[in-house]
Amino acid sequence: MPTYLSLSDSSRWVALDESHARAMLERRGVANPQLALLPAAQRVEVVESGDNLRELVWECRRRGRTTGLVPTMGALHAGHLSLVETCLARNELAIATIFVNPTQFGPNEDLDRYPRTLDADLTALEAAGAAYCFVPSVDEMYPAGCTTAVAPPEVARRWEGECRPGHFAGVATIVLKLFHLAPTDDAYFGLKDYQQLLVIRHMARDLNVPITIHSCETVREPDGLALSSRNRYLSEGERQTALAVPSCLLAAQEAWTAGERDSRRLSNCMETTLREGGVSDIDYAVVVDAQTLEPLEDVGELRSAVAIVAARVGATRLIDNRVLSNPSTNADAD
Ligand code: AMP
Repeated sequence: MPTYLSLSDSSRWVALDESHARAMLERRGVANPQLALLPAAQRVEVVESGDNLRELVWECRRRGRTTGLVPTMGALHAGHLSLVETCLARNELAIATIFVNPTQFGPNEDLDRYPRTLDADLTALEAAGAAYCFVPSVDEMYPAGCTTAVAPPEVARRWEGECRPGHFAGVATIVLKLFHLAPTDDAYFGLKDYQQLLVIRHMARDLNVPITIHSCETVREPDGLALSSRNRYLSEGERQTALAVPSCLLAAQEAWTAGERDSRRLSNCMETTLREGGVSDIDYAVVVDAQTLEPLEDVGELRSAVAIVAARVGATRLIDNRVLSNPSTNADAD
């Protein structure tokens, strides 16, 4: 059950559990935060049909109201809600989507046991101020005979693309379908899934999608672990071990700040931190070009590099990243 938190500098309410609520208020420098359970200010309207969703968005457009899209797979946490918050800072209406997309899961992945918490998700979305939530069935998104798929851009080839064959084709296809069903002004994606964000940006550019893609900072636990719907798979012990993942990014950042620009040494430093922290099942832990994700020997000349990591803690696969910027550059996945 989420705690509904009043942000003292905002008239809106967001739904968070207590530790995230307190951490968020601390980040904002609010002393002695008051946490309160309150009913949601408005009801989120659940939409199950793609045609109805498209009609709703067009109606908003006809009335001159700006709309933003926040695609998710549900099991919502404060990271997802921060996307809704960012959306509402720019758009009048936030449209969230919840769909566990089967085509982006490999045969041995966690599609069947992926957490599904629709009631809690809708409560959280209501509290965050989302107007609509699109919750289609698999048949709605992939009716019988639906065989067309998007070939993902080049930036999808390495890393997640190699570890999870077919994953980005599934992501690009579902996101493009959502863009067609919800032709909003803007769409919001997390930097947490850095390569996915680049894939979506490139696809939107290459296929002339008239929606502006925005990236949102990764929301983390107070101890640094990036929020993820999959964190709930971790046992207490694994949760501690998982801290090696953000630690290896910090190690890369520290080496970078100290002047290291040899990507092999930066990557070694990440891997050493992971292994010392008890994480040995590593898919990749590397520092690469932040725009292309190509590995380079010397990343010193780059506008920005990014440290990316994917590793298994127990049976749970975690991914995370950190952009390493040269001074005077604006690090984003733009
Ligand atoms: P998912 O439900 O995991 O597919 O994520 C839906 C959206 O939320 C994606 O754009 C993710 O990048 C974003 N997201 C997931 N975790 C976080 C996080 N910890 N902070 C910010 N955004 C996130």
